[in-house]
Amino acid sequence: MTASQAFRRSARIASLEISEIVQITERAASLRAEGADIVALSTGEPDFPTPPHVVEAAHQAALAGRTKYPATLGTPELRDLIASQNGVGRANVIVSTGAKQVLANAMLASLDPGDEVVMPAPYWTSYSDIVALAGGNPVVVPCTMEAGFRITPERLDAAITPRTRWVMLNSPSNPTGAIYSRDELRALAGVLKRHPHVMVLVDEIYDHLSFTDFASMREVVPELSDRMLIVNGVSKAYAMTGWRIGWGIGPTDMIAALGAVQGQITSGASSISQAAAVAALSGPQELLAERLAILRDRRDLVVSRLNAMPGITCPVPDGAFYVFPDVTGAMAAKGLATCAEFCTSLLETQGLALVPGRAFGLPGHLRLSFAYSQANLEAGLDRLERFLSRPPEPAGE
Ligand code: PMP
Repeated sequence: MTASQAFRRSARIASLEISEIVQITERAASLRAEGADIVALSTGEPDFPTPPHVVEAAHQAALAGRTKYPATLGTPELRDLIASQNGVGRANVIVSTGAKQVLANAMLASLDPGDEVVMPAPYWTSYSDIVALAGGNPVVVPCTMEAGFRITPERLDAAITPRTRWVMLNSPSNPTGAIYSRDELRALAGVLKRHPHVMVLVDEIYDHLSFTDFASMREVVPELSDRMLIVNGVSKAYAMTGWRIGWGIGPTDMIAALGAVQGQITSGASSISQAAAVAALSGPQELLAERLAILRDRRDLVVSRLNAMPGITCPVPDGAFYVFPDVTGAMAAKGLATCAEFCTSLLETQGLALVPGRAFGLPGHLRLSFAYSQANLEAGLDRLERFLSRPPEPAGE
């Protein structure tokens, strides 16, 4: 069938782009389908399998007939488990189809046209699009590598206006791995206390993947919990991206509003996946430390090799499984004006897929995911090294 004559995009989604991460991943897949030898270090997904006892719990749940519509806000079993692990009540917890849906629920439930959401850049690509989709205006505060990719209290204060509804933080961060320390969280909370109309969303989906001390904002500044939404999920820590289970923890009226949105869009998240999430959260946790140690080795390999390459400066990430090096020197040496051109050229000439920093609101960088095998990482880094050792392509050819 050809394109529809009648279909027209709504104003709400007119500015929505296909995520640059998806674009690069799809281009890599189509080159691979054409027979090209591609190394992709572009996806934010652990290469580990879902733990077998989690898969078994899902199997048992399906066999036991837990195949009916679950309650909109989540099964009592999973909500109670999350509540008890976080020292809150069931009514403070919503389970959704991935952490992404919690974010979407929250923005749809709270933003009116023109409302502002402050987000430090670099930010996870979906943040700005979800805010825009909900009719809000993302207010992006660039935070450089020199600033540790973290927003300071002064810059937060300067970004807040009477229209600000949320500040959206992500610790540990995708794409930089930066973690806000306890002191930094307290200092940011100090600013929020002066602006009682502003809520704070903290996406802590990488909390178990921290190489240094991690503190949840809810523990550090409990006095703000009546206007705080903590977002988390099983995707990253338990290698369960395909199961689509995330959750939000917040005040009861906020959670009820998120549930009202979810109830009209997806209803409750998959009952079988929720049973699997119960097994992940209540079962043996040793795997987390074992996998973290593997990720730490991969991180060290990637950081040291990148820093040995000309024109690349790579800070050591404190958490998550990404590095976000500055590549401006390498771009200049290759005669490439933008990090997007850099990534395109890298993919087309060397078959290596990485994501340009522009996709995260901070150009001049690229994101490399180290949630891949050591062999894949070495192969990718060899390609990047080869790319940098070649002279720039002649212009106009
Ligand atoms: N937040 C961040 C910072 C992420 O990186 C991701 C996944 N890339 C998500 C949320 C979404 O996670 P989920 O699979 O639970 O929807």
